[in-house]
Amino acid sequence: MAWRLAVVGITFFLLAKQLALNFKKKRAESDEDEDVVDYNFLTVAAKEADMAMRKEEGGPFGAVIVRDGEIVAQAHNEVLKQKDPTAHAEIVAIQKACKKLGKIELSDCVIYSSCEPCPMSFAAMYLARLPRLVYGAQAEAAHDLGFDSSHIADAIRGTSQFQKTNCTVKRIVHPEVCKVFWKNRTKVRIY
Ligand SMILES: [Zn+2]
Repeated sequence: MAWRLAVVGITFFLLAKQLALNFKKKRAESDEDEDVVDYNFLTVAAKEADMAMRKEEGGPFGAVIVRDGEIVAQAHNEVLKQKDPTAHAEIVAIQKACKKLGKIELSDCVIYSSCEPCPMSFAAMYLARLPRLVYGAQAEAAHDLGFDSSHIADAIRGTSQFQKTNCTVKRIVHPEVCKVFWKNRTKVRIY
């Protein structure tokens, strides 16, 4: 009887161990999948940034809003086109997404921005209840080009003592994003 119990016990232990291993493997795979998905949507944001420069509509900044793996809206900086200093890529993308979805909160969406957002854009994300941000270039890269709206990055990075955020923020070092900045470093019109 005792050996039977022992066999059942060992079998159960091995089964549980295998299940735990499978779970761990699946989780690692899904983390990897998430990185690939994030990278690909950030590529779309980088292409938007490039388009802003090619069309001479604004600075080299792009943003994409995604829900359930589908792009809801994509936009680039249109400050020069619209003659509107607030027409940042993230703002234009949020406006488009809200209009398209017919609602004023985007709590089931993710925003991808080619560059770390300025405080105004970050506030708009906050007001839209966006729970997650993935960005490419750091604010300093935009600052190096001559844009001055990048000083309050501390709140976004969580390094500020007084300004914290509940939004999950992830940065990806993305070659397309770097390329847009480097390519246009002498062409940008500062507004
Ligand atoms: Zn902005």
